[in-house]
Amino acid sequence: MKKKLFFLFFVLIFNISAVYAVEVIPQIRVLIQDYTPEISIKSDKNIFFYENINKEPVEISGNTNIKAFDEYILIDSNGKTIQSFSNQIYFKPSENSLMEINQSSYGYTIEIKKAGQNIRAINHLPLEDYLLGVLPYELNSKYIEAMKAQAVISRTYAYARILASKKNDYDIRSDYYHQVYGGHKNIEQDVEDAVKITRGLVICLNDKIAQYICYHSTCAGATENNEFVFFTKPVDYLRSVKCTYNALNEYKQNFIINNNVKIQDIKKTDDPLCEGSKYIKWQVSINLNDVETNLPFDLKDKIGKISGFEVIKKGISGRTAKLKIKGERNEYIVNGDKIRSIFKFMDNDRFKNLYSTFIELSNIDNENIINTEGKGWGHSVGMCQFGAVTMAKHGFTFEDIINFYYKNINIKKIY
Ligand SMILES: [Zn+2]
Repeated sequence: MKKKLFFLFFVLIFNISAVYAVEVIPQIRVLIQDYTPEISIKSDKNIFFYENINKEPVEISGNTNIKAFDEYILIDSNGKTIQSFSNQIYFKPSENSLMEINQSSYGYTIEIKKAGQNIRAINHLPLEDYLLGVLPYELNSKYIEAMKAQAVISRTYAYARILASKKNDYDIRSDYYHQVYGGHKNIEQDVEDAVKITRGLVICLNDKIAQYICYHSTCAGATENNEFVFFTKPVDYLRSVKCTYNALNEYKQNFIINNNVKIQDIKKTDDPLCEGSKYIKWQVSINLNDVETNLPFDLKDKIGKISGFEVIKKGISGRTAKLKIKGERNEYIVNGDKIRSIFKFMDNDRFKNLYSTFIELSNIDNENIINTEGKGWGHSVGMCQFGAVTMAKHGFTFEDIINFYYKNINIKKIY
């Protein structure tokens, strides 16, 4: 009887924690080209074109141009033009070959979908293979534990997107808006290792996927609570964390239980763990004429000429969480990370968002310029990538890194 009870208990526990486990590796749909009139696919071998994934493929040349035409899609392959029967078609490469679009190479399936008079390209592939094309762009380090931490976080982020975007045309974008994915050319061994060793591992809160997981480049001493950056509801695992050597010493003494790992001595200082980043400290000049020009039309009209600023609220780390812009007509309050996109500055003939909101603004000078001194790069919530690399360098494991930056979470294998 006792045995039976134990068995029942086990089944119940197993079922509860198995709710989020899946049998096979999930597929992800990555948007690689958006609203473009024409797409060229290049491949060193022939490629296969499908009207419908269940239909027989048509073998065509690896040099193909695709564009929207009327209600359909036109495929121009080696001088031969094929018109699709629908507004959605698929391409696959020959075995051991890839398809090149805009200098990036992709495997598996590329879906071309009509979007008005334009087309978009979506790469369908298994989540694990997707990560091989993310890591080189999001965190490429010689310290494998930092890459493993990034693999688990990027997997969590992508899987949460898959679950949330079932009704959409795609799950995730391939640019900075979500996370950068550059396809599958020349994947290095350490990238493969980092993904393979962490296969199926995701970050959970109470056994549910951590759907708001995020990360950034350089926090410059402390990360920030999500509510002071995105103005969303406070999330348990997105709390401000001190990213310093002293904080790491304390973490090592109180939280690390895995004694098999040899951790190097950590210097006793409040210097940031991410001190190796070139964005640890920076200075930019912002031309207020540019800020006024870049403001959304209704706001430009409402505020008028900008005459000054006032910090209304700061986050836990000292970042500006609310900034009042004073104008000749009206005042306007900008929240959290939006400050970065309003205070654009010119860099190499291009407008860039301000690197962070960890800033001190000078007074406006005679030429309508404000000098901004700042620290860090990115929105500052979740793992600090440069800090993670320092932890890996000192011998911490990817689990240690994840638990240092995200509180109260558990890491779970879903396949
Ligand atoms: Zn940091």
